Amino acid sequence: MLSKTKYKKMESDNYTFFVLPNSPAERDIEDIIKIQEKCFSRVCEILKHETDMKINIYFFNDPVSCGKSYNVNADPEEEIIINTFCYYPNNIHATYNEQIKTIGHHEVAHLLLFEKLHREPNILLNEGFAVYCDNNWWRLNLHKWAKYIHTTSLIDIDKTFQSVDYFRQNSVFSYPLVGSYCKWKINKDGIDEFIEILKKSCSQSDFHREELIEYKEFIKTIFLSDDEINNFSEVVANYEGRAGRGQNGGFQL
Ligand SMILES: [Zn+2]
Repeated sequence: MLSKTKYKKMESDNYTFFVLPNSPAERDIEDIIKIQEKCFSRVCEILKHETDMKINIYFFNDPVSCGKSYNVNADPEEEIIINTFCYYPNNIHATYNEQIKTIGHHEVAHLLLFEKLHREPNILLNEGFAVYCDNNWWRLNLHKWAKYIHTTSLIDIDKTFQSVDYFRQNSVFSYPLVGSYCKWKINKDGIDEFIEILKKSCSQSDFHREELIEYKEFIKTIFLSDDEINNFSEVVANYEGRAGRGQNGGFQL
């Protein structure tokens, strides 16, 4: 159970932050507030959404403690490593230490999108939208990720869009791919049409074949230099065998 009593509470316009005394999050809270307020405004701007939502963010010093707060009923022997996750309507749990700083748009995007739609959208578009709001994956361009995945057949693009299980199992690479897809879709048709699709779409079968064909044609037009391919290969090799994990080894949900 999350012990709220040991946390110090700090407020900003759109957040209540819960930080552990003498933690890296407490030390950096002024910077964190600036970054998170910017992310909040940016996601509202993308969604054309006005809200008086106030988000609670609980900071953890490591992804194991964060993981424990995700599933309090889990077998204590069974460690779940999670960098960050959110739960509706307005809560985020995040790891913040010297190496892992899981702040940014991603979880804020899930919460504001949920409020805008009054429901949880299709998982693939939900994650894609959140990644699109960050506009990078491991600090690398989303469309270039898609091109690299396409060029190397790192994961099966069709399967990613058709099978939720496959999508989840390959989240390290399926996330930037759907991020790229959402970026392409929003740039092409605008946010209003994207929102309409989110309102309707609740299963993978709602993805139209033609749309996917058009998106894959778009990926082919992205330029990736040899140096960029080598850089991607190196980054991917560093994470081999850690499928399903986020940038720092923990899951990002
Ligand atoms: Zn997510």
